[in-house]
Amino acid sequence: MSSEQQRISVAQSCSKYEPGEAILRGFLAEEDISCSYCEHWSNEKDDCLLDIFDSQLVNLDQT
Ligand code: SF4
Repeated sequence: MSSEQQRISVAQSCSKYEPGEAILRGFLAEEDISCSYCEHWSNEKDDCLLDIFDSQLVNLDQT
């Protein structure tokens, strides 16, 4: 399971982040960056479809 805070942190450093539909349609602000709003995120799987969420997470500075 990922927390929203983790998804926000990961998306900010992820080079594959792509704004999903909610952002493109203007429902969310562009600066609301989170895996939750990324084109590659699956809410069903609670995971990144590119399978890079975990590796991104461990690369983050956890302080
Ligand atoms: S969902 Fe995947 S591709 Fe999108 S920002 Fe998160 S880790 Fe990166």
